Amino acid sequence: MYDIAVIGGGPAGLSAAVQARVRNKSVLVVSGDDRDNPLRKTQRIDNYLGFPQVSGQELLDRFQTHAAQMGAEQKTGRVLNIMSMGDTFYLSIGSEMEQARAIILATGVVWANKYPGEVELLGSGVSYCATCDGMLYRNKEVVVVGKAADAPHEANYLQELGCKVTYVSDKDPDGLRPDIPFVKAPKVEILGEGRVTALRAGSTTIPCEGVFILRPSMAPADLLPGLAVENGYLKVDRNMSTNLPGVFAAGDCTGLPLQVSKAVGEGLVAGLRAAEYLDQLQA
Ligand SMILES: Cc1cc2nc3c(=O)[nH]c(=O)nc-3n(C[C@H](O)[C@H](O)[C@H](O)COP(=O)(O)OP(=O)(O)OC[C@H]3O[C@@H](n4cnc5c(N)ncnc54)[C@H](O)[C@@H]3O)c2cc1C
Repeated sequence: MYDIAVIGGGPAGLSAAVQARVRNKSVLVVSGDDRDNPLRKTQRIDNYLGFPQVSGQELLDRFQTHAAQMGAEQKTGRVLNIMSMGDTFYLSIGSEMEQARAIILATGVVWANKYPGEVELLGSGVSYCATCDGMLYRNKEVVVVGKAADAPHEANYLQELGCKVTYVSDKDPDGLRPDIPFVKAPKVEILGEGRVTALRAGSTTIPCEGVFILRPSMAPADLLPGLAVENGYLKVDRNMSTNLPGVFAAGDCTGLPLQVSKAVGEGLVAGLRAAEYLDQLQA
């Protein structure tokens, strides 16, 4: 059991982790594949105080090293669900589970809209986790919709498990097994009445029983039901508290401006306030 679980290993999450460690709280930072982090794709940042013309990669490396040196544990994985039970939060990370007493959401912005049929067929053929649900589709046709950097790897895993995989993405996959057919399509639609029967990718319809949608990030409100959202961003007060006790948020997920300095500052506040929240619980 950790004192604080931080979801998202960008500037906001790592800043929150450092501050929480300063307050001597145990911290787990869970984040998706590093290649998907927006800072890794940013060639040059000119407006982060004290670091003129730094590359996003260098800045992120420094943030990660700092958080690690402060004793924050960092884990790669996709948080799929957070459940609150009493004073404890249970996090599903792929097929693993972790526990924490407070949560800091630092998931960045989620640009992708849901696909037609995704919400209706979630749990009835639509899955976000190959490791959790792959076994259900052995010897069956499945489609992997690859948005995240680790999606080709997950598709390979499903194929090795015995699923008959087709990979669909708007980008050419890196590292996909040559025996997995690839369909390039920017838009998909999931078809089926009550259960998945096919996926339409552009002009191609692929019959299948399972669809694995692998995105780099998930909308926080999907992770934790009941979170208040305003204009598409998480609603927080000046303490970075959300409407749910013990749940804080920081960075791009709370709104404009979408900038590193703002993410770092909000992360600091969230880390400190989460630590104070835990101290009050204990008192
Ligand atoms: C091309 C580009 C150029 C930019 N240039 C600048 C600039 O010059 N100056 C500037 O200040 N800002 C710039 N930005 C914006 C800056 O990158 C963001 O404001 C900043 O990264 C936000 O930090 P964050 O921690 O809130 O979120 P992010 O950095 O987006 O980090 C969020 C992390 O959470 C992870 N995550 C999300 N959901 C889950 C989940 N369910 N489970 C596990 N992990 C999850 C994601 O994988 C991601 O790694 C730029 C952005 C881009 C894309």
